[in-house]
Amino acid sequence: MTRQTVLVVAAHPDDEVLGCGGTMAAHVARGDEVHVLILAQGLASRGPAEEAAFQALRAAAREAGEALGVTSLTLLDFPDNRLDGVELLDLVKVVEEQVARHRPEVVYTHFAQDLNVDHRVTHNAVVTACRPQPEHCVRTILCFEVPSSTEWSGHAFVANWFVDIGPHLEKKKAALAAYAGEMRPFPHPRSIEGACHLAAWRGASAGVAAAEAFVLFRQRVI
Ligand SMILES: [Zn+2]
Repeated sequence: MTRQTVLVVAAHPDDEVLGCGGTMAAHVARGDEVHVLILAQGLASRGPAEEAAFQALRAAAREAGEALGVTSLTLLDFPDNRLDGVELLDLVKVVEEQVARHRPEVVYTHFAQDLNVDHRVTHNAVVTACRPQPEHCVRTILCFEVPSSTEWSGHAFVANWFVDIGPHLEKKKAALAAYAGEMRPFPHPRSIEGACHLAAWRGASAGVAAAEAFVLFRQRVI
């Protein structure tokens, strides 16, 4: 089995785990390199009062990354819920830098039509940075779903790619537990219980006990 290098590009700390935490753990288990890039701060405002919360969120991201065994985690500082005010080129550049550094074959990112504007902008930055020029390393781009943004958008997320995360669900739950401050009580979809229900449903849709679902944006074969 050939080892792969994968890159996960998320807008906010916690999106990466909600969207593809089990898949990241599955990659790690098969010996793949998993690099994570998070673009925005994760807090809507940032003054002296929020500094402690900001540092706690970054610590949670590192703890979640350790729980999943990721190879590297890069936390950037773009403004939360205002990525649409950032020049797209600036976001494209940071994604391109990560792609050039790690040479991933697979990239995971947000769904193009999420409710959250930062998610949509992140998707645009990724597919721009990974446009299929000759010799480009990225063969596969997969879009994940983030509870309370993808299903609330009014746009259909028609999953056509499923990753069996049954053996890795506990790691995903541990990574979500690191983000306890970002989770909400069930029945909010952004809850550990909600994430488990989604994993069970996506699993049932694919004939396994637990799965993460994706929309394939593009795949180049051979
Ligand atoms: Zn988000």
